[in-house]
Amino acid sequence: MTQIEQLLKYQEEDSKLLKIERDAANSDEWKNYSQSKSFLTKAPEKLDAMDAKARELEVDLQKINKKYEDIAETLKDFENLDDLVEEGADISFYKKNATQLQEKLKSLKTEINALSKTIKDADEEYKALKKKTIAVQKQYTEYAAAYQEYKKTKLAEMETIKAELKKLSADIHPEVFKRYENKRSERIFPIICAVAGDRCSKCGMELSIAGKEKIAHGEVTECENCHRFLYKE
Ligand SMILES: [Zn+2]
Repeated sequence: MTQIEQLLKYQEEDSKLLKIERDAANSDEWKNYSQSKSFLTKAPEKLDAMDAKARELEVDLQKINKKYEDIAETLKDFENLDDLVEEGADISFYKKNATQLQEKLKSLKTEINALSKTIKDADEEYKALKKKTIAVQKQYTEYAAAYQEYKKTKLAEMETIKAELKKLSADIHPEVFKRYENKRSERIFPIICAVAGDRCSKCGMELSIAGKEKIAHGEVTECENCHRFLYKE
């Protein structure tokens, strides 16, 4: 048997393994398992970031509240304006000051309300994520078990194919086999294809001059675009 025929035979057997792998990747068992796993991997970092943000907001709120209290305290000094009037003082200066402070208080109050709302929203978001995380943690155990079960049902079949592949690989040149395995890991499949005239039958790329020569001599060449092995039937 020629190298090409051996490779084709190997590839045919390999395609059965690939089908099982693709079915597994498309199975609900895998999707549930991998999605919950990915969620749980990212959740702690997200929760930490939200927690840190909440602390920052609390500090900001305390600062604004302090500012507000200080100004409110200062305003108390203006409560005895009437006494000042009786004493004959020019109160227009004090009145102007008091008005400015009241305006300042009003705008601080608006800031406080907005910040309080932000804090409340952030807190609710945090709690919701926390709740979801706990729910997904519970699910994850079930999903992991279900996926293990799924894998078990495919194991025997996979082992049989792998044993056959091992046998077939013994007849393939190690260097060629290594390149086949590399392409396989890059998710190229089928890996070895017949040429269609001067072109790759899979992607349609025209062969290089060197490639055409190789094909003319009955050798295997590689598509420059999709990197499949090409041969002449
Ligand atoms: Zn190609």
